[in-house]
Amino acid sequence: MTDLSRRYDVLVAGGGNAALCAAIAARRAGARVLVLEAAPKFYRGGNTRHTRNMRCAHETATETLTGPYTEDEFWDDLKRVTEGHTDENLAKFMIEQSSSLLGWMTEQGVRYQPSLGGTLSLGRTNSFFLGGGRAMLNALYRTAQGLGVDVVYDAEVVDVDMEGGRFRNTAARIEGKTFTIEAKAFVAAAGGFEANLAWLREYWGPPADNFLIRGTPYNKGSLLRLLVEKGVEQTGDPRQCHAVAIDARAPKFDGGIITRLDCVVFGIVVNRNAERFYDEGEDFWPKRYAIWGRLVAAQPDQIAYIIFDESSLRLFMPSLYPPIQADSVEHLAEKLGLDPRALGNTVATFNASVRPGMFDPGLLDDCRTENLTPPKSHWARRIEKPPFYAYPVRPGITFTYLATRVNREARVVLQNGQAAENIFAAGEIMAGNVLGRGYAAGIGMTIGAAFGRVAGQGAADHAHG
Ligand SMILES: Cc1cc2nc3c(=O)[nH]c(=O)nc-3n(C[C@H](O)[C@H](O)[C@H](O)COP(=O)(O)OP(=O)(O)OC[C@H]3O[C@@H](n4cnc5c(N)ncnc54)[C@H](O)[C@@H]3O)c2cc1C
Repeated sequence: MTDLSRRYDVLVAGGGNAALCAAIAARRAGARVLVLEAAPKFYRGGNTRHTRNMRCAHETATETLTGPYTEDEFWDDLKRVTEGHTDENLAKFMIEQSSSLLGWMTEQGVRYQPSLGGTLSLGRTNSFFLGGGRAMLNALYRTAQGLGVDVVYDAEVVDVDMEGGRFRNTAARIEGKTFTIEAKAFVAAAGGFEANLAWLREYWGPPADNFLIRGTPYNKGSLLRLLVEKGVEQTGDPRQCHAVAIDARAPKFDGGIITRLDCVVFGIVVNRNAERFYDEGEDFWPKRYAIWGRLVAAQPDQIAYIIFDESSLRLFMPSLYPPIQADSVEHLAEKLGLDPRALGNTVATFNASVRPGMFDPGLLDDCRTENLTPPKSHWARRIEKPPFYAYPVRPGITFTYLATRVNREARVVLQNGQAAENIFAAGEIMAGNVLGRGYAAGIGMTIGAAFGRVAGQGAADHAHG
């Protein structure tokens, strides 16, 4: 049993990638470290459990990466996906840090593998974790605990005693009892507020009730709210988040990667009224998948249906659930609860507008529609070969961008503009500093690891200073 009356140097709240990177860095710098993870042991590691890869700059190809990815190219990508809504100073710092992260993670026991087929063409830019996010986390926990980091599960941080940017202690609820735990420095790595449906509703209204949360139910944003209430400056738009279209049959929480649907570009997407509402073939899927959660969120009842036919069935990685199948478009509509005539008309109008072309999923091909609103700019093929298929989709919220402001040392910045003396933040809880909007696959883990490592190091330095 961990002795919670012991005075720790560094207290880390959270149990995912950001928290573990901070804990390991602090321990390696000589600090006595305690990690408080709200989830039970089996569910430790929040959204990190569901991840597959991390985006890091590197100069050359490696055994698992197919080519170089320079810091400049990383910055160009980040600028483009965020449309400039990023703190340039922090973003460039993170990218610079990412260059040494792959090696550092390997030193902490994490292993990589070549990119998986059919997963957004990331073989050059992103390093895939051997065995996935849970194996990666297990490696970090093994290393942390081997080094002497104490970890307590089922331990939710419920209060933080701080004044003028100085952390004194925290209250944590463990096995129904509240404990006051002191430390010389504090690292907040407790995720975003995506699992707090009431909080999402404040910004999205009733549509939030139809959102599915792709990851952990434990990221309720309680620590984010506490810190802001106690004087930490917040940054980021509360409605901005990473959201993709996921199978509507997925569970409310923790459906993970196997409920994501990557077949939008191969069919058409209609809403409850059987109407199309966006160009399904606007660009390559890796550049567009992260907008579909918001697009579906804007539709009536926050539901949509991806419709395709036999010719596309084997072109993508399927969801955990089988597609709904019928021998005609009208029968498919009946099974989906849509108006058969309306869906029949939408498909017929779409089919009539498709121009002949050379279909090629690997290129921005010339298969497109003409005189159709909205258009389908690439990969448009008639939906005519039975059986016909559909996947119902809903917005799947990955993580939110509302954040505690931080500086390059990962110290939180107070509402008076001063950096806190001994309070740091890393991961989703501060991701909005870098991600004002948009997303490039693999950056969530880069933010957590880069700022987690810096936070842990800084917290240990403070404790020894
Ligand atoms: C399905 C899915 C797939 C993803 N795939 C990728 C990917 O391949 N690559 C990528 O870069 N990103 C991916 N992401 C995003 C990525 O998971 C996050 O950006 C990253 O894991 C965040 O790390 P973190 O440590 O900040 O948060 P988390 O890993 O979510 O950890 C937060 C932790 O805080 C704990 N906690 C919450 N509140 C408290 C409290 N009050 N007290 C104590 N502990 C608390 C939680 O239990 C949790 O363990 C994916 C997300 C999902 C949902």
